[in-house]
Amino acid sequence: MTECLFTLHQIKGYIASLYLVEYQNKILLLDGGARYDAVRIEEYMSREMLRPAEDLRLVLVTHMHPDHAGGAPLLRRRFRLPIAAHVEIDQWYRGFRGATQHLIDTLLGHYSARQQFGKLERAWYPRRLQPDYLLDDGQALPGFPDWRAYAAPGHTLYDMVFYHPEEELLYVGDLVIKPGDKIVLPFPTLFPELMTATLKRMALLPVKKILLAHGGAIEIADGHSFFSELLPLVGKYGQPVFKIMEPLCSLAPDVRHYKNSCR
Ligand SMILES: [Zn+2]
Repeated sequence: MTECLFTLHQIKGYIASLYLVEYQNKILLLDGGARYDAVRIEEYMSREMLRPAEDLRLVLVTHMHPDHAGGAPLLRRRFRLPIAAHVEIDQWYRGFRGATQHLIDTLLGHYSARQQFGKLERAWYPRRLQPDYLLDDGQALPGFPDWRAYAAPGHTLYDMVFYHPEEELLYVGDLVIKPGDKIVLPFPTLFPELMTATLKRMALLPVKKILLAHGGAIEIADGHSFFSELLPLVGKYGQPVFKIMEPLCSLAPDVRHYKNSCR
């Protein structure tokens, strides 16, 4: 599938997998990873692709968690690489509650890295991304018009996924994850009704291949069954400990507004 348009590369980051989409004259980065994934990306490009990091033209950030938004600011500083993300992404960690959530999420990122990989590295990153390109739902990506950005709220309010219609390829960020053998929904799912709507919407897209930030690339028979089968999982806790942890992940101002509006 990749012979005509681009070659896909998967890089194992600190916590998440990152994907480079290599075209002849430009490269797109699907999520900037954690802070020092910026260095891993540069090393991978030089070693495996024999291309300078300057060939990167755009980094996408699906949402503000540390394993997705941590590396992009460093990449921008080092290579003048522009960042594209949801038009309202900088609302997520706003205010005092947002700042507290940002701190907790960074610590939880460390915890997750240690649990999974037994290692720790510096992962602090700015809580405001200040994207160079603000993406609306359905918009074509700047410099990569063959890709579309779709708003995909549920995990956070400002998640996006990125879709390549011609190749029927979808990068989902944390919309769904594969921690072991099974595909599940992410923890936290802070906006369950919106997650349901997002999954139903994704089920309408023709999709053959899904790129997961946690779980690699998977081929699927059809997107409709794949996403529809996840609907019963919305609102369920994958592990009992998640129920205890949820208040720790619910400090962002938008979560509070949402919970108040649901009462
Ligand atoms: Zn996340």
